[in-house]
This record gives sequence, structure tokens and C-alpha cells, in this order.
Amino acid sequence: MSATSAAPALSPAGTRVFQQLVRSGDASRTALARDTGLTPGAITRAVRPLLEAGLLLETGDRASTDGALGRPATMVTVQAGAHQVIGVKVTADELFGVVCDLRCRVLDEATVPVGGHGPEAITDLIVGLVDRLRTGRPEVGSVGLAVSGDVDAATGHVGYSPFLGWRDVPLGTEVARRTGLATTVENDVRALLTGERWYGVGRGISSLALVTVGTGIGCALLVNGQVVHGGFGVAGEVGHVLVDPEGPLCHCGNRGCVEAIAGSAGILERMGQAGFKGLGIGDVAELARSGQPDAVRVLAEAGRAVGTGIATIANLVGAEHIVITGEAIGSSPSDTADDEQDYDVMDPHVRSAFEQRAFGSAARAAIELRPLRFVDWARGAAACAVEDFVTHYGRS
Ligand SMILES: [Zn+2]
Repeated sequence: MSATSAAPALSPAGTRVFQQLVRSGDASRTALARDTGLTPGAITRAVRPLLEAGLLLETGDRASTDGALGRPATMVTVQAGAHQVIGVKVTADELFGVVCDLRCRVLDEATVPVGGHGPEAITDLIVGLVDRLRTGRPEVGSVGLAVSGDVDAATGHVGYSPFLGWRDVPLGTEVARRTGLATTVENDVRALLTGERWYGVGRGISSLALVTVGTGIGCALLVNGQVVHGGFGVAGEVGHVLVDPEGPLCHCGNRGCVEAIAGSAGILERMGQAGFKGLGIGDVAELARSGQPDAVRVLAEAGRAVGTGIATIANLVGAEHIVITGEAIGSSPSDTADDEQDYDVMDPHVRSAFEQRAFGSAARAAIELRPLRFVDWARGAAACAVEDFVTHYGRS
């Protein structure tokens, strides 16, 4: 049982203060009042139930410079380990699970190979993994699950997941029933975005795009501080933005989509057509780095396609920061640290196409390419569970 399960619901002000503290780790009462626009009295009322629940701790003067007369500042610190969450990324091959604290620091991790893809089999594996990770950890109070495909985060319902072959699976309800833990389910790319929003580059900015380049091209958008779900759950399908009407056939039936050119399957297929069969993405990057012309050309085209796609995002929603990650950019999940520089080959082509296509001030967006590890996916799932816990604290 979580120590907080019988807690009273927070006021809206309390929720804001709790969110602020979970993002920053700690803050002085003065800084909290400044950042939230609340009065000192409102801050006191907001933090009281969280102090009583052991989720926050007040300490004396960490910095005595807070306040005009150098009065000792009262610091409020998140007791991050007091509520722990389990994040699980579900893939067709394996489940990757982590235990995180409220600051999304990884305390433990485990993987489970996946056999059958039916909802019952996967649910059994999730429940088994959660039970394993929570053993000896009474602080674990909630679960976050990240699944590719259309996910209704409000209900925990997986509408359609092509990788798993699922339609209409009430995953959240079932995992919550069997584990007794509050369970949040989110689309995997939006889960990554949630992690960035709470603990990464998304802190302090209101419009952020996160693009994953792998077998498919995924995209999640934070616009004006809100994660965009869109009608029908299809917001941000940058993978099917048209790049070249004469380009390779996409599985969607059209030609020249970003995904057909920059997705790992498209890259490997075009390398195969050039006579290089049986390669992985890391091999293609290695060939390009050694100057092999086909690999250089194929990855340059891929980079330009990604750059065109993200320019479209920047032009439409004015993203301030765009993170591009994934197996076709950085290391694939099974790669070692030595391979974590694969993205350097695509980087200049992404940037040049972006600069060419981004209109006006949209070109000011910061572009960041970085590798993606499985632990990041699972941490994103954990971040969704933390977000749910903090936002709905005390409300069951
Ligand atoms: Zn397409």
C-alpha cells in the first residue's frame, strides 16, 4: 500500500505546487510563491497535506540569501522515494521495466522476453514483471505502460496497436485490477515526450516536438503546454508527410513519405537494392562513415526526409525545441555504447533540409539528435505514472 492512498485530494493550488516541486526537486517557499503566483499562506496550505503524507520535507536554510534581509530560506524538498512507480515499455519482442522514484530516477530495471502477442499473454507478463519489480518495495504505488499505437490515455484503452495486432484492449483496467495499483497507459512516443516535459528539455518551454525514427516514424507534440492527442489519436503523423512524389512506396499506399525514405526498413531496403543485404542500421552508418557512396546517399536522403518532416512540424505548430531520436538515428536498443554515435551521419542533412524548409521564425527551433535507449522508453512510461499520481493526488 502506498502511504498516500487515503490522502485528501489536493486543491488546484496544491496540485500546482506539487507539480512544480516534482519537476525541480526542491524549492524555497519564496521561489514557490513566485513561480506559482500563490501567496505565502496559500503555499503553506498547499504543502501541508503533502508534508503530512511524507511526500515533502521542509528543511532549514540551504541558502540564506533567500529573502530581502538575508533571512534563512525554508526549503521544501520532494521525498522522491516515498512514492515509487513502475514503468513498462511493451514491444513485440520484450517488456522492459523500471522502478523510478518521483524524480524519475531509475532504482531498478528488468526485462522479460515476449512469446505470444495476445492481450492475455502480454497482460500476464506485465503483471509478472510488476510483481517482480515491486518485491521488497512497499513504496511502489502506481504503474505506467507505454504501448505503440492508438492509446486512449484517459481510459487506459489500447484502440489499435499494429505491432501487437491488438484492437480495443482494456489494458489499463486489467493491469490495475490484477496488481491493485493505479495504472496509466500511454502511446509510447507520447510517454517519451512526457518524460522530457517533466524531467528533460521540455521543462520551461511550452512547445516541444519529439520524433522517433525507427521501423516507423513516431511523433509527439507539446503545444502551448498541452500534449496534443488530436481527433482520432492520429496527431503528429509526420511519418506520412510527403517528401518526394516519385519516391519509394510506403506501406500506407503512397509514395515518398518520410517513413518510406527514413524508416529503418526503407533504408535497409534501398541498401539491399544497391547490393548490401542483411545489414543493420548500425552497419549502414558504419559504411557511410567509411565513405561508401550508397550508404552515404541513402542516409543523406533519410536525413533530408526527416529534416523536411520536422520543418513541417515547426511550420505548423511553432515548436521551440525538436528532439529527434530512435534506432535509425542513434543506437538500436541492443547496441553497445560504442555505437551510440550513429546519428552523426544523418545530422547535417537533417539540419540543412530543416533550415531550407522551415519558414521564418519557425527556423529558430533548436534541433537535437540523440540516441534512444530502451530505458528511456520505460522511464517515459514511469513519467506518465508520476504525472497521473501528482495531478490526481488523493483523487481515486
Ligand atoms: Zn506513408
